[in-house]
Amino acid sequence: MSNVSGNVVLKQGREKPLRQRHPWVFSGAIDANRSKLGDVPPGGLVDVRDAGGGFLGRGYYNGDSQIRVRVLSWDQNDLIGPAWWRLRLAQSIRARQALTDRDDLNAYRLVNAENDGLPGLVVDQYDDHLVVQFLTLGINVAKETLVEALVGLLKPRGIYERSDVDVRGKEGLAESVGVLYGEPPPNPLTITEYGVQYPVDLITGHKTGFYLDQRDSRTLIRTMPALAGADVLNAFSYTGSFGVCAALNGAASVTSIDSSEPALEIARTAMEMNGLKVPAEYVNADVFQQLRAYRDGDPSFDVIILDPPKFAHSQSQVEAACRGYKDINLLAFELLRPGGTLITFSCSGAVDADLFQKVVFGASVDAGRQAQIIRWLAQPEDHPTLLAFPEGRYLKGLVCRATSF
Ligand code: SAH
Repeated sequence: MSNVSGNVVLKQGREKPLRQRHPWVFSGAIDANRSKLGDVPPGGLVDVRDAGGGFLGRGYYNGDSQIRVRVLSWDQNDLIGPAWWRLRLAQSIRARQALTDRDDLNAYRLVNAENDGLPGLVVDQYDDHLVVQFLTLGINVAKETLVEALVGLLKPRGIYERSDVDVRGKEGLAESVGVLYGEPPPNPLTITEYGVQYPVDLITGHKTGFYLDQRDSRTLIRTMPALAGADVLNAFSYTGSFGVCAALNGAASVTSIDSSEPALEIARTAMEMNGLKVPAEYVNADVFQQLRAYRDGDPSFDVIILDPPKFAHSQSQVEAACRGYKDINLLAFELLRPGGTLITFSCSGAVDADLFQKVVFGASVDAGRQAQIIRWLAQPEDHPTLLAFPEGRYLKGLVCRATSF
């Protein structure tokens, strides 16, 4: 028995992305006259068909979003109910086994939305607590089923919702936070990442509490020879995870700058928790202003890390975002000692890796510094990008060494 309540028929010639398994159907691709949507409840299931009536995919519908359908299954024999959701979740979790099996690691992303075949759903594990985000109407409708399935699969101590994100607005949803199952998480909760301890505030921290997507870069900072003995500037430090890694690697000093005082407080605790006694400074300031103040004064650094928040939230903001990236990277190049290392990131999906590299190049030119790229950085394996969904790639970084020639 089918629980599909409508049909979305595409205009002639608009089926190609779907055939290639891109999971989104935009409003402009839909032939409204031939589609049957009268009986579809908000977030209900529909079949997507090509102009000839052939089945393309099955997903959930939202008439109030520009993205009208997000496809869940490419198989018309799939019955999308509790068993289906549970299986899809289990597959996503199983794909992380190399991480989840480790004894020295207990925080990772278990479900990365579209990229794991579960559009709109994020599930992060922090020790024995789960933090979830329901980003779309269709996935919000399935909330209870998903929570039940997660309890069955993972037996967590608690599940906490952090659907306090802007994108819910585009789906006609209000923000929603709170305990969905079991106990509220301790605050802070301490996670272990490759043996390093980090205190995390799951309730009011950024994203779901911690930048899990910077795990591989933390490992790099913990092991790269350039950090040993270095005076390190960690700009946009948040709770100081890069600073902890730099200190573990033998940095001579760590200066963290962030506009959030609570984040800097946690950064202090993180250093103590790992027994690190490196000279550390915590500067509660605007990075743009603080880098200028450093430039006009004495300080210079052997390693500078720039991990700003997302500057471009859409295509229309790319130009302004690039000016922002150029500004901070230029200042960083100016503050870098000869032979120093700049580790610079962008998490704006709309600014692609090539463009970001060009901006960093432009910054080096204007600073009168030549540099070598010694590494290209990206999001880790628990934040995969579906090949059919290049939108899934957002985080990129460059490790640049200022040349002495
Ligand atoms: N590298 C960090 C994550 C950085 S997130 C980690 O791995 O944990 C970006 C941080 O920049 C946030 O903590 C935010 O508070 C801070 N921030 C945003 N705009 C800022 C500004 N103009 N000046 C200083 N800090 C800023």
